[in-house]
Amino acid sequence: MRKLIKGLRDFKDNYFSSHLELFEQLAHAQKPRVLFITCSDSRVDPNLITQTEVGELFVIRNAGNIIPPFGATNGGEGATVEYAVQALGIEQIVICGHSHCGAMKGLLKLNKLQQDMPLVYNWLQYAESTRRLVQENYGNYSDEELVEVAVAENVLTQIENLKTYPVIRSKLYQGKLQIYGWIYHLETGEVLAYDPQTHSYVAPQSQIAEVSGDEYIEERIVSTSDPVVACEVPLRHQARIDEHQANNDGDTLPNLWLSPQQAKRIYRGSNGSR
Ligand SMILES: [Zn+2]
Repeated sequence: MRKLIKGLRDFKDNYFSSHLELFEQLAHAQKPRVLFITCSDSRVDPNLITQTEVGELFVIRNAGNIIPPFGATNGGEGATVEYAVQALGIEQIVICGHSHCGAMKGLLKLNKLQQDMPLVYNWLQYAESTRRLVQENYGNYSDEELVEVAVAENVLTQIENLKTYPVIRSKLYQGKLQIYGWIYHLETGEVLAYDPQTHSYVAPQSQIAEVSGDEYIEERIVSTSDPVVACEVPLRHQARIDEHQANNDGDTLPNLWLSPQQAKRIYRGSNGSR
């Protein structure tokens, strides 16, 4: 606690005093451009990893970067999403999972949680689609690999949950909202972004084109109104991979968030011997 108190003083004396104009502006109104939804994990810092300033990101954080579907609960997530999109006029949402996520580890061992952490158990019910999809479609993988698969699939599950909100649905219909799925890699500091066209996680730069200076425009809209429905995931995975391997004699694999060794095992998976 002493460290925090010292930090408060240092912040006011140094950072705040040297950014007076910014803080004065922000005192009047906030105009964040992005709603950033991520895990509570202390190793994930939205402003740090995106190198953004105070006032630029509107943030929702909870265990497992989960958004309960509309109507499932009267929690803060829905209200915050609604406020972000309707009141603040935010047009870009990022759902950012991360490697080694404790919530995803818990999700894969759900029964053990029920007694020790009943509230976490209940909360993870909003990621049940992730759990079931991983359990039924990724047989024969190591526990470690399954966690990373769950992280990746859960980002997609939560995008689908987000789309159940009327305010999101309507803005997507108007073409006034983009939703991005990201994974932050704790070990490398790298972020990969979901690409619905290849059904893999790729460098996020490939989804925007630099125009001039700080200005960016969308090159290709990665709207989740594209058919990235969770139930199609495993089939599409396998189809893409078979196609890819056919074209490459199986020597290389799609650009994934996993290490090449992990990717090799996972995507050759139950096909085994290739
Ligand atoms: Zn986490």
